[in-house]
Amino acid sequence: MRASIVTSQYCRVHQLLFIRSLQEWLAFSPAHIAHAFGDAMQVVEATCPRCLAMTQSAMHRQFPALYARSSGPVTPEG
Ligand SMILES: [Zn+2]
Repeated sequence: MRASIVTSQYCRVHQLLFIRSLQEWLAFSPAHIAHAFGDAMQVVEATCPRCLAMTQSAMHRQFPALYARSSGPVTPEG
């Protein structure tokens, strides 16, 4: 007999699991998830808010010109 399997979003980089009922990302190691939920939980890789912040700052570093306008002084052109 099988219980219904819940699929949750999980960020492996930061070890954060999205708990839908709480609408929050909580710290869970893979072992912790296995121990707490066993087969009842299936995790899919996802990007957590920290990933997005990381990506954003990486993008800022890689493409400073794209972001210069919003943060730096505006220089009129044309
Ligand atoms: Zn993350």
